[in-house]
Amino acid sequence: MSSRSPDVRINDFYEIIERADPQMLREQGARCMDCGVPFCQSETGCPIDNLIPEWNDKVFHGDWESAYHRLIKTNNFPEFTGRVCPAPCEGSCCLGVIDPPVTIKSIECNIIDRAFEEGWAQPNAPTNRSGKTIAVIGSGPAGLAAADQLNKAGHAVTVYERDDRIGGLLMYGIPNMKLDKQIVQRRVDLLEQSGVRFITNAHVGVNVDIHDIRKEHDAVLLACGATVPRDLPVPGREFNGIHFAMEFLHKNTKSLLDSNLEDGNYISAKDKHVIVIGGGDTGTDCLGTSMRHGCKSLVNFELLPVPPVHRADDNPWPQWPRIFRVDYGHEEAATKYGKDPREFCILTKEFVGDGHGNVKAIKTIQVDWQKDDTGRFQMREVPGSEREFPADLVTLAMGFLGPEETLADKLGLERDARSNFKADYGRFATSSEGVFAAGDCRRGQSLIVWAIAEGRGAARCIDIYLTGSSDLPAPGMETGHMSSAG
Ligand SMILES: Cc1cc2nc3c(=O)[nH]c(=O)nc-3n(C[C@H](O)[C@H](O)[C@H](O)COP(=O)(O)OP(=O)(O)OC[C@H]3O[C@@H](n4cnc5c(N)ncnc54)[C@H](O)[C@@H]3O)c2cc1C
Ligand code: SF4
Repeated sequence: MSSRSPDVRINDFYEIIERADPQMLREQGARCMDCGVPFCQSETGCPIDNLIPEWNDKVFHGDWESAYHRLIKTNNFPEFTGRVCPAPCEGSCCLGVIDPPVTIKSIECNIIDRAFEEGWAQPNAPTNRSGKTIAVIGSGPAGLAAADQLNKAGHAVTVYERDDRIGGLLMYGIPNMKLDKQIVQRRVDLLEQSGVRFITNAHVGVNVDIHDIRKEHDAVLLACGATVPRDLPVPGREFNGIHFAMEFLHKNTKSLLDSNLEDGNYISAKDKHVIVIGGGDTGTDCLGTSMRHGCKSLVNFELLPVPPVHRADDNPWPQWPRIFRVDYGHEEAATKYGKDPREFCILTKEFVGDGHGNVKAIKTIQVDWQKDDTGRFQMREVPGSEREFPADLVTLAMGFLGPEETLADKLGLERDARSNFKADYGRFATSSEGVFAAGDCRRGQSLIVWAIAEGRGAARCIDIYLTGSSDLPAPGMETGHMSSAG
């Protein structure tokens, strides 16, 4: 799908993608070979087993309504994955061996957008109710997917969310230019009309008692995300102007939605030298947001080396290609400042203060990555490569360390070696009777499509726990790849 020009879009928070040309989508549908083994939808491809060759063919034949019905068989929220999924399906597409893959993600996005425009996407309240009640804690894609599935099975689902708006990172993590919040709200409204109950400002374990929730419901699903950020404990970390990425992004979106940034309740990058430490989606979103505030300069530190332009020998198709990518924030910064904002192989040594408690610079050193005798990469500082970068605003986007402790402590839950709630993929049951876990709080920081996969899988397990059997589908049931994928 094409995007709006970077020099235009950095002036607003509207979505960057443009509507795709229907003829282009038809041609892309025609390129699909309907492979005997469709790698796009299995194993290394789509974690929710989207029936990709089937809807590719429907789009080629102009039958968008049946394409929509095939799509929602496996994906509760194609409008989110169609916009912001990194698309492992495309990385696995057989055409990718010799040619660019089919543009699967664009086709998906256009099917669901059209379904909303044509009125095919309607509330789906069940005709019979089971009398069973389920509490879902956390309203990100894992919680919402589980709520949708369990509601379809006839159970009464209540979603508890500590924020003032529903959606988890769909609402307050991923910024508007990647995923418009009206699109998130449109889905939340549809779920509500289908019978799911939402309670906001309900911080379970803090202002809502988890033991009361357990008593009042037949099962509980923890879908509270991996929200503990990795810190950077180097000298000067205490200076003003150094923030976790999520504080920066959350406040920006809230202020934007509440007042179009007029209430001033956000961390402004305007006229500041901004440094984003860490890459990935979170780092890129900090770049894009800083650009829209009108920052003075923008640098993005990456500890690892520049990835190769083409797949390395140890990263063959159909694996996810670990290659150099230019995401929207990099493209925008390069357009405005004439160069890609990324500095690779760079280690932060110290934050420098201005004498009044504010950060004013960062001292760094270059690093070198070499394999040791066991074949593992080791990092070495390069003598004499010290540098200093001006910095008035620093955002830390170095990943997340798992879920917060409150609920695990109150429920006495077992945790895995990475501090996630311990529950096997495919079963989703925690060490506490009737309490299940899904999404980033179980698997660690991941992707929306995996959160949906986990929400669907957990819903089926909860349905079986409550009724002894389930008609709810779950990822891996048809392709049998659930256990390996988890
Ligand atoms: C900035 C950023 C950008 C990203 N961009 C992408 C992207 O482009 N593509 C992609 O596929 N993935 C992206 N991701 C990852 C993706 O958003 C997550 O993997 C996904 O949202 C995880 O879903 P979840 O439902 O497990 O948790 P979350 O989306 O984190 O939702 C958890 C919810 O639980 C709530 N909660 C936590 N504790 C409690 C409690 N005690 N009581 C009540 N509520 C509670 C939280 O407030 C939150 O709303 C991004 C992540 C970040 C941080
Ligand atoms: S792997 Fe690519 S070409 Fe083959 S069925 Fe999937 S989308 Fe079509």
